[in-house]
Amino acid sequence: MSVRAVRSKLPGEFVDELYRAFPISEADRILRGFARRRYVTLRANTLKATVDEVLSELKRAGVKCQRVPWYSDALVIQNKREQYIESLELYVQGKVYLQSLSSMIPPLVLAPQPGETVLDIAAAPGSKTTQMAALMQNRGRIVAAEIDRMRAERLMFNLERQGVTIAEVFTRDGVIVADEFPESFDRVLVDAPCSGEGLFIASQPATYNHWSRRMCKRCAVSQRRLFDAAARALKPGGAMVYSTCTLNPDENELMVESFLKRWDHEFEVLPMKLQVQGWAPALEQVKGRIVMPEIRHTRRVFPSQLMEGFYVALLAKKG
Ligand code: SAM
Repeated sequence: MSVRAVRSKLPGEFVDELYRAFPISEADRILRGFARRRYVTLRANTLKATVDEVLSELKRAGVKCQRVPWYSDALVIQNKREQYIESLELYVQGKVYLQSLSSMIPPLVLAPQPGETVLDIAAAPGSKTTQMAALMQNRGRIVAAEIDRMRAERLMFNLERQGVTIAEVFTRDGVIVADEFPESFDRVLVDAPCSGEGLFIASQPATYNHWSRRMCKRCAVSQRRLFDAAARALKPGGAMVYSTCTLNPDENELMVESFLKRWDHEFEVLPMKLQVQGWAPALEQVKGRIVMPEIRHTRRVFPSQLMEGFYVALLAKKG
């Protein structure tokens, strides 16, 4: 599908905003990234199986996979769709978790260690909670907040299936949960509710029909509340990741910039050690205004057949 064809399918206001926010070459690249369905990707759940066990079970089931250079637990499925993977025994047993590659980035950047305490302030359906538990080898504690009851149930189901024993689910506003634990966590993940622009696929209207400017504004209000509450719950010296699956600079670069201004030198943005193929430094300029230079340490992922569009920032609370 050409850029022009993708453009004609998406909400006109979204396309206008995209070309206002991004240089033309980047906006074109983003639209090209919406042109085709993405590969199915999954993560081997190392709480239940090694990657090699998963690879041989998948091979026996006729599934062709490719490894991902920046994450040994991630696999790209080359010849099957989700439904087929979901029908396999290793899926039902929780040895794998269907998860986009972009969604695997924030836990890797936050890098929770065994024995630590972690807050996941907007947690359902639990892709990142389960990944963090695996990184922590099921040692330590994860407080997982989710405001939506149905989604919290899905989260609990996924934790159970993946064999996670260190996570406690709070079905409440993450702001209220965070404020019950002031300065308590070694690490906090703010995987914020967002307008989801990184997930658009031109041939699937359900991925973009919900989009509106008003919705982006509502998301920004929620992001700001959760971001500030997360900051209050973080121990001095602790690390925090802010991430979204959207492209909108108001929810990304400008959200982090306004956070830094509100918290006036209490937080710093850290460069990330992880190297993901194809990700890019954040925007230097948004709508003609130069953003704070430290925002350049944050990263954007362009949508493609392999990755959803994504944004991630690593921050440290000064000790
Ligand atoms: N981290 C999740 C994962 O990787 O599976 C995805 C999180 S999704 C981007 C955002 C979630 O935040 C949604 O499940 C939404 O219901 C929840 N949410 C929205 N507002 C919230 C709030 N105030 N407190 C807690 N959760 C909230």
